[in-house]
Formats: sequence, C-alpha cells, structure tokens
Amino acid sequence: MKYSRLFILLTVLLVTGLVFGTAWIRMQEFERYQLQLAKRAVDVTAAEIAALVRERRRQVLQFANDQGEFIQLLASDPDNDSIRRILHNRVSIFFPERVTFTIADHDANVRVSDIDMVPGELCLVDLSAASQGKPQEVRIHPNPSQTHFDIIVPWGTREKGGLFFISFDAQEVLRVLRLAQPPQQSMMLINRNAEGLIELTHDGPRNELQRDSKYISDLEKLRIVYTREIEGTVWNLSALLGPELIAGQRRKVLLQSSLILIAFFVYAVVTLVLVRRQEQQRSRAEDALRNWKVLLEQSNRELKQLAVTDELTGISNRRYFYDQAAVELKRARRNWTPLSVVLIDVDKFKDYNDTYGHKTGDECLQSVAAAIRDVLKRPTDIVARYGGEEFIAALPETPLVGAEQIADAIRMAVANMEIPHESSEVAKFVTVSLGVCCAEPDSTVKLEELINRADNALYASKSAGRNRVMCCEEEKREKD
Ligand code: GH3
Ligand code: MG
Ligand code: MG
Repeated sequence: MKYSRLFILLTVLLVTGLVFGTAWIRMQEFERYQLQLAKRAVDVTAAEIAALVRERRRQVLQFANDQGEFIQLLASDPDNDSIRRILHNRVSIFFPERVTFTIADHDANVRVSDIDMVPGELCLVDLSAASQGKPQEVRIHPNPSQTHFDIIVPWGTREKGGLFFISFDAQEVLRVLRLAQPPQQSMMLINRNAEGLIELTHDGPRNELQRDSKYISDLEKLRIVYTREIEGTVWNLSALLGPELIAGQRRKVLLQSSLILIAFFVYAVVTLVLVRRQEQQRSRAEDALRNWKVLLEQSNRELKQLAVTDELTGISNRRYFYDQAAVELKRARRNWTPLSVVLIDVDKFKDYNDTYGHKTGDECLQSVAAAIRDVLKRPTDIVARYGGEEFIAALPETPLVGAEQIADAIRMAVANMEIPHESSEVAKFVTVSLGVCCAEPDSTVKLEELINRADNALYASKSAGRNRVMCCEEEKREKD
C-alpha cells in the first residue's frame, strides 16, 4: 500500500513534469522560431533599404552629371522660370515618382528650390554637413508638404558647382518595410544618433503616427528581439514581437497542458477508484473466505470432538480410549513405567432403570461419570464410557497399589453421592464395582489383554458381592 502510494505520487510528478516540460520546450521553440522570423525579415529589409538608398544615390549622381549644364544655368539664374520648368520636367521623367529637387552652392546656401517644397530645417543641417565633406547619412525629414528623405550629391566642379539633392517620398522606404514584415511582429526604423527617435514604423513616418512620444518607449524596447544597422543611413532596423505574441502563446500552451493534465488526473482518479473498489471487493471476499475457513475448522474440530465424545456423559468414548490408551501403553514401555486400567460397572443398574425409568437412569450415568472424572485429577489420566453402564480408566505411571486406591476412591465417590437405589440388594444407594489391573514396566501385555484382565477382576468383584474393588493380583492370589 505504502509502495503503491509512492508509485502514484511518482507517476503524477512524472506526468506533470512531462506535460509542463513539453510545454516549456514548445514555448522555447516558438520563441526561437519568432526570433528566426524576425532576423530574416530584418536582414532582408535592411539589405533592401540599403540597396534602395544606394540605387537612389547612383541615380541622383547620374542625373546631376547628365543635367549638370541645366543645373548650372539655373543655379546662376535662379529666377529663370523656363529653365526651372525644363529641369523640373527632366526630374519628373528621370524619377517618375513624385520628387522634388534643390540646388545649393558649396557653402550650403540654397540657390534653387523646386516649386513644391521649401527646404526644411533638417534639409539644411544635412546640406551643411555635406558641404563640409561629411558622408551623408540618410534620414527621414518630416516636412509638412512631404515626408521624405534626401539624397545629396555634388554637381559641377569645385569652382563652378555645389550640392544638388532630390527629396524622395518616405513611402518608398515604407513600402519596403511593409513587404517583409512577419505577422504579429513589427519593424521600426529608429534613428541611432537621436536616442531612439522613431523614423518610420509599419504605420508610417513618425509625424503621421498616433502616439504620445516620437521616441521608442521602454516597453517597446523590451519587445525588440533583433536590430541591424542600415549602412548609408542613420537607421537601425529593429524587429519587435507583438505585445501579446509570447504571452498569448504561453496562455495557449498552458491551457492545453492544463487540459491534458486535468484529463489525465480525471482518468487516474477514476482508475484508482475502480481499482480501490475492486481491492475492497477482493478483500471482502478474502475475509469471507477466511471466516468460512475458521468456521469450517471450528466445525471440523467439533466433529472430531463429537467423534471421540460420549454423547450422554460428555466424557470420551470407547474408540478414543482405545487410541489414547494404546499410545500411553507404548509410552509406558519406553519410559519403563507402569500403566493401570480400571473397569467400573454400576451395580444392579437394570433394576435401577426398572425402578426409576430410563431417563433417571441416564441422569444417574451422567452423575457417575462426573464423579469418576472428579477423582482422576492427572491430565494424563484417560477416562471413557466403555459401554452401557460401564466406564474405563487408564492411569499412566500408576502401579497396581496406586490404581487400587484410586479405584476405591471412585467407588466411594459414587457411593457418597447417595443416589437412591431402593431396588438394589447391595446398598440403599447407587454403587459401583471395579476391576483393576496393571501393566508392569517389564510386561509385554497388549491393551486388549490388559482390559480383559481388568474385566476378569471386575467379574470377580461382582461375584464377591459388588460395591468393591478387585485386582488381578488378588485374582491370582485367589487362584494360587
Ligand atoms: P450387575 O450388578 O450384575 O452389573 O447388574 P446390572 O443390572 O447392572 O447388569 P446388566 O448387564 O444386567 O444390566 C445393565 C443395564 O444397564 C441394562 C440396561 O438397561 C442399562 N443400561 C445400559 N446402557 C444404558 C443407558 O445408556 N441408559 C440407561 N438408562 N440404562 C442403560
Ligand atoms: Mg454391565
Ligand atoms: Mg452393572
């Protein structure tokens, strides 16, 4: 029972461990998979945006070279509307998307702005940096007329030239960003030089976002799983897991695991209850069987007892006497001790029956048996009803003299009960006659012979007038 409980406890622990262990592995795999998705998306998107910027720079450079003549003409005569229109048309042909251009001198002074747009503050900062020869790092300019990014290139020569730039719609970057974004994840372009200033998210450039701060929040930082710099720009491209992605998956896996465990526990409890019930039934059946066995043994004992007991007097019967006396006789031989046999017969019992009736006769026999048993106190003494109104006793380790005394004690015990026997010629009360004989230690006499001799002694006792004890020796003496 103790071990089966331990086994159940271990099984429960093992199954719980297995279910939650599997759940933990599933979560780890899910997170690894999401990280892989994020990495691939960021790597691909960062490469695409870098390629876009490079390509745009190549195109703007080529345009500045090809159209250097017109750029110079316009730079030297900024108010010449016809040249401006020509250049504007050529820009539109070269860059079919909606873009604007700006011409500046080497000192970053804007000479010409395209019709649509006035250069903003960030444009001027970038222009100034470019004029100092610093390599341009592209960034988003949230200009009110168009959120864009600039590609600034030199035009003309050192003496006659300056800086030329084209402003591209930020939607170009947004399109690339949206292309590879995995479901339930988001990507953000963040300005690495401006402490987490958001440049662009899936929902658009920062000036179009519906949010309190234009900087990435601490919570958002926690959701970043992978970041990569984009060369030629100020941008870090970061992938953020959806706010509910991990927690939602964890809830799902936990719910599934709990359901599996609940199902297992229900199954285990039902099985245990059934097994317990079966065990109880079995132990009840075993108890019943044990009880039956006890009853059977008891009734067997009683049957055995009945088989060796005299029904009327309750003392042993003749069969038992023969068995036990034979054993005692052998023992006496082995131990070199005497064994005496006493045969007892109620005097004139026929007359007693005739006088008092058979039922009173039975009661008389019971009283005589009790009186004999009371005299024979040794546990080894065997007393039995020999038949009719005759009783027999075997007395181990008792010589003839001792047996004679005991026989006389029996005689007196019966007489002293003073059971009236008015039809007896012997006395007024019930009396017994006794024949005693002894198997001496050196004798080889058999039990039957011993009983015969006792019977002869009894016969002699009867002949001598009853209510007395006679011994084989006496018989011998008489014969002698
Ligand atoms: P004796 O003194 O010579 O022994 O005379 P007796 O009458 O005792 O001897 P007998 O053998 O002539 O008679 C024995 C009687 O004992 C006969 C029978 O009616 C009676 N008897 C034997 N067994 C039982 C018994 O179980 N119950 C009763 N009530 N009487 C029995
Ligand atoms: Mg008799
Ligand atoms: Mg008799």
